[in-house]
Amino acid sequence: MAKASEMNNGGQSGNGEPYFCKECKRNHTKGKIYKEHLKFARFETDKKEIEEESESSEKGLESEVEEIFEGLDEEEKEDEDDIIELNEMEEEELDSDPDSSKVIINDANMCVEAVKRLPGVGEATLKKLIKAGFSSLESIAYTPPKIIQNESGLGDKTIAKLIKASMSQLKIGFKSAEDVWEYRKNISRITTGSQELDDLFGGGIETGCVVEFFGEFRTGKTQIAHQLCVNVQLPMEDGGLDGNALYIDTEGTFRPERIVQMSEGLDLDHKKILKNIIFGRAYNSDHQILLIKEAANLIKEKNIKLIIVDSLIGHFRSEYVGRGTLATRQQTINTHLHDLLRLTDIFPELCIIVTNQVQSKPDVFYGNPTVAAGGNIVAHGSTIRVYLRKGKGEQRVAKMIDAPHLPEGEAVFSITENGIGD
Ligand code: ADP
Ligand code: MG
Repeated sequence: MAKASEMNNGGQSGNGEPYFCKECKRNHTKGKIYKEHLKFARFETDKKEIEEESESSEKGLESEVEEIFEGLDEEEKEDEDDIIELNEMEEEELDSDPDSSKVIINDANMCVEAVKRLPGVGEATLKKLIKAGFSSLESIAYTPPKIIQNESGLGDKTIAKLIKASMSQLKIGFKSAEDVWEYRKNISRITTGSQELDDLFGGGIETGCVVEFFGEFRTGKTQIAHQLCVNVQLPMEDGGLDGNALYIDTEGTFRPERIVQMSEGLDLDHKKILKNIIFGRAYNSDHQILLIKEAANLIKEKNIKLIIVDSLIGHFRSEYVGRGTLATRQQTINTHLHDLLRLTDIFPELCIIVTNQVQSKPDVFYGNPTVAAGGNIVAHGSTIRVYLRKGKGEQRVAKMIDAPHLPEGEAVFSITENGIGD
């Protein structure tokens, strides 16, 4: 297939003059080379499809198109300004022939369509964005340009334009408090299984935020996390979100047995419940960060409404040892938390639960057990923070430590074989 450099320079000729293409073995019009190549690729594939009458022809097309992309990618590295020009050219051409866009992006996903329609987004840019996980206007608008640049490899001018256009389409900017109120009135919530605990949260755990449960060992953090994975799958009218869960386990304490018990406690088919929990074991902090980045791509596809990170900073604490590493550790945790927070901006229907240990340094925090590990970074990163402690027997006490709109109350709940209850 022809490389982008050939396409862009168009060889020798001026506008309107033919350019002989070695691959197609025919003349192309300058300015239409790219489009004509696509048509050629499609024609070739159709021919093959008839011959083979199998699915493999689709792959053939994909690989041909892939090569075009690769060619474009090389070109983009050479000169960033050219990308915009090239992309604009692509867009014009694809617009005039809507069929040709279908050749490349089979995904009818509306979000991707919206990204594709951003000014200056050609197929090459689109592919890079999707590959890096930026497949919706929200994901572009809410992510810092530096991060988009690092992950997608696009130039900063292009990214600045994309962010500006996404923000304007999403109408991100000032709105009236009344609009915010209207939105918040309809916010969805997940029941915890305990009426008291739900009341502490103002009627269940709300979506669109990061909730942190922190406390000592055996205070119920992991149990609550398990229970929410079951409850999120309930229908809306029963306190669920009709959605699935993604569980990132950093401590090796996820137990499907508990999911089975909790499902049975609610008379649910445990096989179905287990199937709808996507599980990822994070073996170190880098792996944990990566899993969250990958999660962004799964949320829409797998109808994820709940993400659990149990626990948030365990790995960071054990990997970054010594005073010299503190600044780097806090910075990395901060970035990780912001990755999580951003997910709730991008997917307002999503609820994120993180668990956290309490600091076990009595010399530093003596007399104040309600100090979570991770310091201010974690405290500022989570929207709602709840401290858990043990009560009598199976009872546990949850204390609202920090929430933008909730009083600092307490709730008593219990952990039984059937899960969280009153
Ligand atoms: P952590 O806060 O350390 O994550 P967990 O959420 O794992 O603690 O809570 C562990 C506690 O949950 C146990 O001490 C026990 O009281 C309770 N628990 C765990 N499994 C069961 C069960 N099958 N039946 C009743 N209680 C259980
Ligand atoms: Mg635990």
